[in-house]
Amino acid sequence: MRAETGVFRKETNLMRIVLMGAPGSGKGTLAKKLMAEKRIPQISTGDMLRAAVAAGSRFGQQAKDVIDSGQLVADEIVLGIISERLTRPDAADGFILDGFPRTRQQAGDLEELLDQLGTPLDAAVLMDVDFDILMKRLTGRRTCSLTGKLLNIYFSSQEELDACTKAGGELVHREDDTEETITNRLDVYRTRTEPVVDFYKKRGSLRVVDAGGAIDEVYSRLLEQCQ
Ligand code: ADP
Repeated sequence: MRAETGVFRKETNLMRIVLMGAPGSGKGTLAKKLMAEKRIPQISTGDMLRAAVAAGSRFGQQAKDVIDSGQLVADEIVLGIISERLTRPDAADGFILDGFPRTRQQAGDLEELLDQLGTPLDAAVLMDVDFDILMKRLTGRRTCSLTGKLLNIYFSSQEELDACTKAGGELVHREDDTEETITNRLDVYRTRTEPVVDFYKKRGSLRVVDAGGAIDEVYSRLLEQCQ
């Protein structure tokens, strides 16, 4: 459904969106919340690539080196992963794409793929946030090894952090969250992914959400865009 009739298909409450934002914009967390609320899959190329790495395939090993250096995995590889994923039945009515498309090429490829499937996007939603906040969010982020909960040593409350460690969990620092990799990833975002924002702006399908502040506030703002 296009802008003139409201962003989403109200009769079903389903949506096909691309969630965009720099590393640290919170888009992974927000996508998970939105997935639970709308009952549509969150499709994260980052998660799928990390799963391939964990599975230890040869391709996974190559991908790991690229991911750890903060660079992007080749367009044709992520497109292959996404094409396979989008044709599974659970994505037929709705999905939240998280971390894809990340280059102008991927955006064009996605458009073509969705045209072929007859399931065009409803919107591309940009989570917009200041550079300084991004740095703190990224260098401070940890995942609880027990629950998978995303935490941050700067922004999470002491109780939340303790809840993980006192239950015997560890606060795990993602391997691609080092200072150097983060700087790289932010640079890559500016040069490779910002053109994707323009791509959707030109098509009239871009929505911008202020992603500064606590995750719950940001989530309410995101939901306003998804009614
Ligand atoms: P971020 O925290 O930067 O949003 P993600 O979990 O989305 O991280 O992705 C982690 C890494 O996986 C990226 O830095 C990149 O190397 C790779 N990656 C994820 N999605 C893509 C994509 N669409 N195209 C190319 N590389 C990708």
